[in-house]
Amino acid sequence: MMTPYDTGETKEATDAMDATLNQSKAIRPSRQEAEQAIDVLLRWVGEDPKREGLVGTPSRVIRAWTEFCSGYDDDPAQMLARTFEEVQGYDDMVMLRNIKMESHCEHHLVPIHGVAHIAYMPDQRVVGISKLARVLNGFAHRLQTQETLTAQVADCIQNVLRPRGVAVLIDAQHQCMTTRGVRKPGVSMITTRFTGVFKTDDLLSRRFIDQTKLA
Ligand SMILES: [Zn+2]
Repeated sequence: MMTPYDTGETKEATDAMDATLNQSKAIRPSRQEAEQAIDVLLRWVGEDPKREGLVGTPSRVIRAWTEFCSGYDDDPAQMLARTFEEVQGYDDMVMLRNIKMESHCEHHLVPIHGVAHIAYMPDQRVVGISKLARVLNGFAHRLQTQETLTAQVADCIQNVLRPRGVAVLIDAQHQCMTTRGVRKPGVSMITTRFTGVFKTDDLLSRRFIDQTKLA
């Protein structure tokens, strides 16, 4: 079985990649600097960071953002490394429906809330039931656009698990649109990504869409 680390790249390429990673880590500011940035923001909106209610806010905000962006420390591909083959020849759609999804928009840093539906057509092997949701979280807990998130989740499952096809549908509300800008509450955005048999078999993709609507 190919692991997510069998990328086929030369050692030179891997070393170059490590160097780039180390570089971006080197310029990563400290927690203290991040808290100072929140202090600047508080003063910029017209607040007094020293008043009682705001003492501790910079450190709380940074702790919250550590959670919101925990996906940068995740390797979603790794979550699909363990597979099971004892499924009695089961070869039909495996679908996880109504997975609660929380992310943040990379343009305004405000929440994106919604649900994701993820399905795949297994080829010999399946993954543990929670793993699809973990892959979603690994990518969602970063700064995102919904389009990118949808593509990343589908492509990760396709490339690592290598099923016959993957379908991902995300239905989400963007606070940058509902609470500011055009202010259209209740509007949701739907994005889909189909790979393999979901792309070529209309009946199958229709079954997937129908199953997202089951009560
Ligand atoms: Zn936005």
